[in-house]
Amino acid sequence: MQGNDFQYAGFGSAAVHAGHTIDPNYAHLTPIYASSTYVFDEAEQGMRRFSGQEKGYIYSRWGNPSIAEAEDKIAALESFGVTDDKGQPLQLKAILHSSGMAALSTLMISNLQKGDQVLTHFSLYGGTQELVEKVLPPLGIEPVLADLLDLTIAESIIKSNPAIKLLHLETPANPTLNCVDIESLTYLAHRYNIIVSCDNTFATPYLQQPFRFGVDYVMHSTTKFLNGHGTAIGGVLVGKDMERMSGHITKVHRLLGGNSNPFDAFLLSLGMKTLEVRMDKHCHNAMEVANFLEVHPAISKVNYLGLSAHPDHHTALRQMRHPGAMLSFEMKDGLEAAKKCIDQLKMCIRAVSLGTCDTLLCHPASMTHYSVPKEKRELYGITDGLIRMSVGIENIQDIIGDLEQALR
Ligand SMILES: *Cc1c(COP(=O)(O)O)cnc(C)c1O
Repeated sequence: MQGNDFQYAGFGSAAVHAGHTIDPNYAHLTPIYASSTYVFDEAEQGMRRFSGQEKGYIYSRWGNPSIAEAEDKIAALESFGVTDDKGQPLQLKAILHSSGMAALSTLMISNLQKGDQVLTHFSLYGGTQELVEKVLPPLGIEPVLADLLDLTIAESIIKSNPAIKLLHLETPANPTLNCVDIESLTYLAHRYNIIVSCDNTFATPYLQQPFRFGVDYVMHSTTKFLNGHGTAIGGVLVGKDMERMSGHITKVHRLLGGNSNPFDAFLLSLGMKTLEVRMDKHCHNAMEVANFLEVHPAISKVNYLGLSAHPDHHTALRQMRHPGAMLSFEMKDGLEAAKKCIDQLKMCIRAVSLGTCDTLLCHPASMTHYSVPKEKRELYGITDGLIRMSVGIENIQDIIGDLEQALR
């Protein structure tokens, strides 16, 4: 038998192979199991499957072989080389969702109830911010948005707020690239019996493994670097309390219905095979682009975690393997200059989202943050002249060449 008990020495090998189980027809890659339901040999077998006495699939909202492969691969990567309190290899369970937002919904709804509060940093993915500010409050769950870069502020808020039950971190954060200290914040939260979740979308498990720092849950929008090719929307929720993950969390996931589908799961498993090589190239290119932009006369500021000028440079170096592939820069001449640069791109793509092989650029003031009042977005550093860039894996001469001509 191949695979099952081999201990991968390297992350990249796990990215290629982990999660695969031998196909009954010996297909090399797990086929796309496009089937909504599964057949029982006899009524007794149906009963054994429903009661959990016999392992086996029942219905694809509950589980599907194509989906299971992607889930097991993500669990293997988030736990790669990580040990539990007893020094044993960390066990994780991942549940694939139809989107990052669906994974967040399961996380919030399964862990919070009426009267609880959720604490998070003020710089967040827009959808997450709207979820905690607009969807949760009518259910009796209130958000507390604070500056979690400052541990003293974080502790005083936690101390004076016994209703806080969940601390949700996003690091590096959208769109500022703020990095909060996962280990210190998790230690602090656990002293007050607060559970901790971390959105690891920007980093991926190759660059950062939040379970190493003690968090209880990790979630991703798999739409981004994990899929890596921009072919499908998806999300995942990963947890280390195996009983709770297989029990309550699975129940909530199945009943909220934000399940993935076999085709998207197949694309995700395929994309993740190249995670290590892609991330190395993404990060290498991003550093080169940051160095190019930093000295460009049309640009006043470059925000990249790999530059020592970034306020969270040291936090990033401490908890991440490389500083990632996301950066932003500000045009000296503001709005018109930013629009002109975006409009003149010839190879790089004008689009929101991130994490694809292709370099993507967007102009937050006219796109993602168009509806946010100017004063409010400027508080988060989203000025009229800011351009956000997800650096791709093209050859660096072409990325810089395209930027050079667009900035002319
Ligand atoms: C995209 C994104 C999400 C939401 O994920 P979807 O797959 O679009 O639902 C959440 N968090 C971060 C950091 C993201 O970039």
